[in-house]
This record gives sequence, structure tokens and C-alpha cells, in this order.
Amino acid sequence: MKKIGVLTSGGDAPGMNAAVRAVVRTARYYGMQVYGIERGYEGLISGQITELETRSVSDMIQRGGTFLKTARCKEFTELEGRRKAADTLEAYGIEGLVVVGGDGSFRGAKDLSDDFGIKCMGIPGTIDKDLAYTDYTLGFDTAVNTVLSAINNLRDTMQSHDRVCIVEVMGRHCGDIALYSGIAGGAEYILTPEIPYDLNEIAKSLVKSKLRGKTSNMLVLAEGAGNLEEIAAFLTEHAHVDIKRTHLGHVQRGGSPTMADRILATRFGVRAVEELMNEKSVSSAIGIKENKIIAMPFEQAFAVKRETNTELYNASKILSK
Ligand code: ADP
Repeated sequence: MKKIGVLTSGGDAPGMNAAVRAVVRTARYYGMQVYGIERGYEGLISGQITELETRSVSDMIQRGGTFLKTARCKEFTELEGRRKAADTLEAYGIEGLVVVGGDGSFRGAKDLSDDFGIKCMGIPGTIDKDLAYTDYTLGFDTAVNTVLSAINNLRDTMQSHDRVCIVEVMGRHCGDIALYSGIAGGAEYILTPEIPYDLNEIAKSLVKSKLRGKTSNMLVLAEGAGNLEEIAAFLTEHAHVDIKRTHLGHVQRGGSPTMADRILATRFGVRAVEELMNEKSVSSAIGIKENKIIAMPFEQAFAVKRETNTELYNASKILSK
């Protein structure tokens, strides 16, 4: 393989730049030409492409967001859109593609590969950590640390005023940002979509803790686990506590990637290019399992079912008592 392309697609995540940097430098190291495609599949269809050199990705490893920009592209979900994308790749002589993105982006990569025989490698870049075939995704560690820093600040002020606080965090249908930041931040309650919870029980427990003299409590709510306003209203009414609500929002998506995300991005990037070069390999999702970098054919990766981390849930239950 002589020419490869790299793009970032879907929701942005800290560490995407570090991954693109690793892809570019690995490709150059092995003597390949590498093209950066801007705005994900949209740029692939419209030909927003520039050649990247080793120095094009200088001063990138520490930056959040994605310098290649990202987009959502409806046209690419249809065969005709993908045909235009394949034509662009052919015009540039690009034989292999690295796609940094989430589940949707991987489905697009698989379709492009199936329909037009373009070898694609997917690097999981999403703060949600909602891809079951891999233990970690790029951006998750940074997002959790951003949440943690907010929780630390909130604890200080909540403690001073004897208040209860609910922090809503991202994660779509996946509760891992809430679970990890809740445990690391010492939250008393962690509400996620994976484990059913009973607001009556939580209200009772808040009343009991007030009677014990504990006046400040922290609840971390995953966005997919309920409505922040409704939960706050219910607990105010039934537990008679002063509740402050914090919706962290997009601040969780930004920021300089942590060491863990930079290392992961680097390992993923090197492996993605090596898989493209390997004549025996097929289009695959790159991931990490038990600290080993893996490459799993897309079909197989999509079939892996998410498992609830019962050990961490148990730990959070034990420690919040
Ligand atoms: P993420 O990659 O973060 O999950 P999206 O779900 O928005 O983000 O997907 C990013 C892009 O990938 C979409 O805008 C679309 O172009 C493409 N895509 C998503 N789902 C599919 C699909 N089922 N088939 C083909 N392309 C898809």
C-alpha cells in the first residue's frame, strides 16, 4: 500500500489529534503518502483533502478536538454517497483509510469496504466508551477526568452549604462516564441506564443520612438514565433537601487529552497503519483488550454485546453506604 487517508468522524473526542498524528507519522515512517480528509465522510464525498507530512502534525498531541474537523454526513449512509467517496479515493490513488470515530463512523467504514473494496481501519474515538469490543475508547479517560474536576469543585461548595448536588454527565445510552467519575469522585449515588434505581429509596436514604448528620450528598446522573429536572424535583419534594443541579454539557468533550488517551491514541494509530499494510488483514476495528492492542473485523466487533461492569457497580454500592 502506497497511499492512505485518515479522517475523523461523528462526535469529537480528546485524543483524536494524537491518533491522527500517530497515523501520519507511522505511514511516513513506512514510506507511504498520507492524506488528511477534512470533515469526515462529508469531506470524502466533496474532496476536502490535503497531503500531510510528518511536520503537519507537529504540536498536535496535546490538543483537544480534531484539527481535521468532524461532521455527520447523511449522504454517506446511502450507496450513491459512498460511491462518490470511493471515486474521490480512486482519484487520489488512496488504497486504505483510517477512520477515527464511534459506532456510526465504523458502520460507514464497513459499508465503504463492503461496497467498494476499500480497506478501512477504525480507531475508536468517543468519550462514551460505548463500543463493547474494546475495553477503552479515545477520549473517555479525559472526559472522566474533566467530570472529576467538576465534581471536586462542587463538593467543596456543597459541603460548605449543606447541600445535595446532582451532576448530569454525558454518555448517551452508556453509563460508564457516570460510573467511573462517580466512584472516583466519591459520589453517594450513581444513576446509570444499566442498573435500575428507585427514586423513593434514594429519597428515603437522603432523609436517613440527614438524620445521621450527613448534610451533603452527591448524585451523578448519566444522561441516558433519567431527566435531571424531574429527578431533582422529586427528591426536593420527598427528601426535603436543598438540591443544586449541574448539567456539565459540552465541556466534557473538550480539553487536552490525558496521558492515558495520548498513549492509547499512539498505540491505536501505529496498529491501524500496520494493519493496512498487512496484506492478510481485512477491514477491522482497532481496540484494546486486557492492555493488548487488537484488530477485529467490523462484523465481529459489532456483534460483541456490552457487559455491565458488575465489579465496579458493586464497589460503588459498598462504598456509598
Ligand atoms: P459516531 O461515529 O460518533 O457514532 P455518527 O453516528 O453520527 O457518529 O456517525 C458518523 C457518520 O457515520 C454519519 O454521519 C454517517 O455519515 C456515517 N454513518 C453512521 N451510521 C451509518 C450506517 N449505518 N451506515 C453507513 N454510514 C453510517
